[in-house]
Amino acid sequence: MNRSESIQQLTATPQWDILIIGGGATGLGCAVDAASRGYKTLLLEKHDFAKGSSSRATKLVHGGVRYLAQGNIRLVKEALMERGRLLKNAPHVCHTLAFVVPFYQWWQKWYYGFGLWLYELLSGKLSLGPTKFLSKKGALRNLPDLEGEKLSGGILYFDGQFDDSRLAINLAQTATEQGATVINYAVVTGFIKEVNTITGVIAKDELSNEQFRIKTKAVINATGVFADEILQLAGGHNKQTITPSQGINLVVDKHFFKGSAGLMVPKTDDGRVLFAIPWHDKVLLGTTDTLLKILLPNLCR
Ligand SMILES: Cc1cc2nc3c(=O)[nH]c(=O)nc-3n(C[C@H](O)[C@H](O)[C@H](O)COP(=O)(O)OP(=O)(O)OC[C@H]3O[C@@H](n4cnc5c(N)ncnc54)[C@H](O)[C@@H]3O)c2cc1C
Repeated sequence: MNRSESIQQLTATPQWDILIIGGGATGLGCAVDAASRGYKTLLLEKHDFAKGSSSRATKLVHGGVRYLAQGNIRLVKEALMERGRLLKNAPHVCHTLAFVVPFYQWWQKWYYGFGLWLYELLSGKLSLGPTKFLSKKGALRNLPDLEGEKLSGGILYFDGQFDDSRLAINLAQTATEQGATVINYAVVTGFIKEVNTITGVIAKDELSNEQFRIKTKAVINATGVFADEILQLAGGHNKQTITPSQGINLVVDKHFFKGSAGLMVPKTDDGRVLFAIPWHDKVLLGTTDTLLKILLPNLCR
């Protein structure tokens, strides 16, 4: 990947087959797919790759266990299939991690035990290991900082952990290898239209301030939470179709919560699934999930 060469390709190509706006997981995945099918593909990212949500995940592949409590079995299965494929395709940035769900009351053992047994069952041949009951001693061996006085035991299950930003960079590299041109610090500022049809975009190189008029047969809006802004820029609509939600992960020193496994609390007092996950020499705690009532600029409901 060489940015100056990519800018040269941008100016030398009269028309692209597919232009992708947004260099997060979605856009970069689209770029790999499109380029590997032989389409002349250009991806433009406003900041650096994965600067948006794609570097701020809880690092779970995919954390499908969260959807189990909602009874969304189809989504759980889909997440488990993707987890299996990701662990096979990118083992250098994804690995299996053991999790413990501590239980303090007898019903929690059977209720959560059944759920996590089902979670493993749904992964079929892509299972990462059997779900097991742990004694109190076993739970504390994995997570010594658990509140031990009233602890009865734990349920051990396995899930996937990944490095979201590194995976994104690898996707950018793979897309480039497959013939795509991917450019960071290139913001889409407008669209070119001919008789109500989008035929290109206007973009600005944020490093040189140079402006480009780029012709393309198709545009993919992969701007995540900013998708409405792009739709509005394109004159598509002026409604808010995306409801932004804010999630916070806290990263604290490892001594705050020691142990080799991750902790999963299926239901906090305010109804969230909470994780404490080893992450390098730190522990990642999260996540919150707060709906934001902010309206994006120039959008009306
Ligand atoms: C707190 C939290 C925890 C999460 N945990 C997990 C998890 O554990 N596992 C999991 O699988 N998922 C998790 N997710 C979800 C996951 O992070 C998102 O689904 C994913 O990152 C979305 O990727 P995206 O490419 O659609 O969006 P983004 O990564 O936000 O990418 C959109 C990109 O578009 C760019 N852009 C916007 N406007 C323009 C423009 N005009 N021109 C050019 N570029 C533009 C932005 O700069 C941005 O980089 C979590 C999300 C949050 C918020």
